[in-house]
Amino acid sequence: MEAFALSIIHALVDLVCPEECAACPTLVAGGAIFCHGCSVHVNVLGSPECDACGTPTPAPALCPACTATPDPSVRRARAWASYRVGQAHEPVVRALARFKYDRVTRLGRRMSQRMASRVPDSSVDVIVPVPLHEQRLRDRGFNQSALLARHLGRALRIPVDFDVLVRTRDTSSQTRANLRQRHALVADAFRVTCPPTIYQRSVLVVDDVWTSGATAQATARALRAAGARAVDVVTFARVQQPGVAT
Ligand SMILES: [Zn+2]
Ligand SMILES: [Zn+2]
Repeated sequence: MEAFALSIIHALVDLVCPEECAACPTLVAGGAIFCHGCSVHVNVLGSPECDACGTPTPAPALCPACTATPDPSVRRARAWASYRVGQAHEPVVRALARFKYDRVTRLGRRMSQRMASRVPDSSVDVIVPVPLHEQRLRDRGFNQSALLARHLGRALRIPVDFDVLVRTRDTSSQTRANLRQRHALVADAFRVTCPPTIYQRSVLVVDDVWTSGATAQATARALRAAGARAVDVVTFARVQQPGVAT
């Protein structure tokens, strides 16, 4: 009932007070996230894609990377859209920057609505946001993944556990690290505080972006090691892999 009432309230608010496009000052209505001009530059993801990691593929099947080195920790990962590294003008990149660094937190609801359509399995038991290190949380003032998880939990009526996973090391400044370094940096950066809450449960990990996959995979490994039955991942966006047609 709470989710239904909230959706009515949000629809009324959108009607009376339309919001700006997430990437430019154009007003949009009806819960849209981007205006038409920006939408045409957004690469929304969908089938065909790798059944495991969600990378676009020519036909529904495992991608070459998952075929070569399958990751047993993440069952399925999906993102709503892709973006290209270094393309700051792309609407998805601008939306992420406004949300995360300019603290336009009201974007979280509309971003999570897109993510809801990409949740690999909506029958999961619990949603867990990727945590920030406490120092990073103090600096930024909010955890963008926790905000997305809260909206997603309300929309899908799935409980959200904000405390079961903690980040023991600040690994956020890893933009210049290569793939192997990224995996090494985050490998043991997460700890499960209360295993009984996820033991034998199916967990959905929520994050804003999937770049190398290292962070999501590290959280999934920690959750699986603590007894989670399965871990799926959903993000708002993912980096477009070079050479992958989308
Ligand atoms: Zn726009
Ligand atoms: Zn794959």
